Amino acid sequence: MKTIGLIGGLSWESTAAYYHYINTFIKEELGGLHSAKCLLYSFDFEEIVELQHRGEWEEATQHMINAAKTLENGGADVIVICTNTMHKMAEEIEEAVSIPLLHIADATALEIQNHGLNTVGLLGTNFTMEQDFYKEHLSEFGIDVIIPDKKDRDLIHKVIYEELCKGVIKEESRKEYIKVIERLYLAEAQGIILGCTEIPLLIKQAHIHIPLFDTTLIHADAAVKFVLEK
Ligand code: GLU
Repeated sequence: MKTIGLIGGLSWESTAAYYHYINTFIKEELGGLHSAKCLLYSFDFEEIVELQHRGEWEEATQHMINAAKTLENGGADVIVICTNTMHKMAEEIEEAVSIPLLHIADATALEIQNHGLNTVGLLGTNFTMEQDFYKEHLSEFGIDVIIPDKKDRDLIHKVIYEELCKGVIKEESRKEYIKVIERLYLAEAQGIILGCTEIPLLIKQAHIHIPLFDTTLIHADAAVKFVLEK
């Protein structure tokens, strides 16, 4: 089995879910007492959030590159960034290391294709919804993306940073998210990408009939398939 290098703590609430899924999938595949070989570089999220919200992306990129290099030097065979937003600098990270990076949007696009869908709604941070770095990857797979309107985007973003990344799960926010998802569905989205690794802590498939793409689960599954490949 190869070793997964996780860049996490963005936030640790979702990194814990990655760790759980990765070990669960390895146990399902290999049985016995098998568990994942992995290294975790976990950030102090507050420091990264400050850089994001001040628009200091170059410094944030440098931190991400340092984390990836540390994992590579520690023996990781593949880099897994445990957040959608920080794929903004995925290319720079890929160039800085000699091991592969498993892109969360590529893994998600493949899953959407497997479901035979081509138009999806995207929920995530404002960075992920509004900038091109994530949507471009989906469009390479022929997938069209619909994002919520400004008011809805601001609500989604606020709940991520003020609640979900702090481990706060509120029924009232779940109801608001479901309303946004229903509006995207009315705007012709055939499914919804939960494109922030904390959103699946709030919204699960059991809450709604519209197909959901849980990026945390999809990415963890792709990482396990990669490290078990012969
Ligand atoms: N984990 C979230 C994501 O998947 C947001 C946290 C971050 O800003 O990285 O985008």
